[in-house]
Amino acid sequence: MNNPVVLVIEDDPPVRNLIVTTLKTHDYKYLTAKNGAEAIMMASSHNPDVLFLDLGLPDMDGIDVIRQVRSWSTTPIIVISARGDDADKIEALDAGADDYLTKPFSVEEMLARLRVTIRRLALMNIDKGEDHSTYTNGKLTIDYAAGVACLDGEELKLTSMEYKLLCLLAKNTGKVLTHTYITQNIWGRSWDNDIASLRVFMTTLRKKIESGPEAPKYIQTHIGIGYRMLKVD
Ligand code: CA
Repeated sequence: MNNPVVLVIEDDPPVRNLIVTTLKTHDYKYLTAKNGAEAIMMASSHNPDVLFLDLGLPDMDGIDVIRQVRSWSTTPIIVISARGDDADKIEALDAGADDYLTKPFSVEEMLARLRVTIRRLALMNIDKGEDHSTYTNGKLTIDYAAGVACLDGEELKLTSMEYKLLCLLAKNTGKVLTHTYITQNIWGRSWDNDIASLRVFMTTLRKKIESGPEAPKYIQTHIGIGYRMLKVD
């Protein structure tokens, strides 16, 4: 994707300037919005590639911006917020945000999150044009049509639950999935004991795909929040 357009939604001028200057320096195109209403209008009329969204906006809650944009668009939304509580992050992710950054943040981290999101977008675009039946990430491959996952060419002996979990993470590579999102997708509901079961399935799945539990290469844990499949080169 050449020079993606980022819509920066932030009411605080110094923070907005920092983000915009960083984007400009790294050859991204940008648009800005100072409040939620402007953000929704610009997201619909200018078709940006990625949204950077502050949650504390003067006219409405950023969570409502996510919900409204999500009602018609799948454009990635990266939340940049001073609200650092897990509950706030989970609310944003469950409303449809793709990632979050807690203020104060480093511009390097912001750029890294942006690159991950853009890579995921590029992957999704490739997917659209091709056969959906295979997934490749580092040494991990999934043949969706055959229902088989392999690591380094060796077939993995996965239980149906581990396979489902792996496919859900793979299809959302680069995106943080909350415990609730995962359990709702796998069991169609989210109870506390489902989240406990999820941890167990995740542990057994990881034993099969990661070389060491101390240094997971594929599945990243976001403590208290959820998991993310990383793109491995
Ligand atoms: Ca604000």
